[in-house]
Amino acid sequence: MAKEQAIREYWAKVPGFYERKGFDSADEFLEHGTCFACGFIYRDPPQRAHIYPHVKGGSGDPDNLHMLCYVCHKDSEHLEGDAYWDWFWERDFLSAALSLACRNGNNFGYLLPLAAASRRRPPI
Ligand SMILES: [Zn+2]
Repeated sequence: MAKEQAIREYWAKVPGFYERKGFDSADEFLEHGTCFACGFIYRDPPQRAHIYPHVKGGSGDPDNLHMLCYVCHKDSEHLEGDAYWDWFWERDFLSAALSLACRNGNNFGYLLPLAAASRRRPPI
C-alpha cells in the first residue's frame, strides 16, 4: 500500500483538489498529519482510507487512497462511489467535531484539547 507521502503528492497534483478542501497551499496540504476531509491534525496520525473498498478489489495505489483522521475514517467506512465523494466534499471541521463529540457522550469539552493541538484554526 502506498505511503502517506506518495498519497499526498498524488492528490496535490490533482487540479483544484486541495484548494476545494480549504488548504491554502500545496505545502500546507503536503504536511503530514492533516486529514484530507476535515483538515484537522489530531494527536493520532491520519489513516490510509480506501476510496473504492479494498474488500471489493480497490487498489492500494495513491489514486485510491486518502489520508483521513480516525473520526473521518470511521464515519466514511460504509460509503463508496458517489456517496463517498458527496460526503468528502461536504465534510469539514465542524461536522467532524460534532461526530467526535457524539462518540464521546455528547461531551463537547472533549474537543478542546483537539482544537488546542491543531495547527489549523476551525472555521468558526
Ligand atoms: Zn478528519
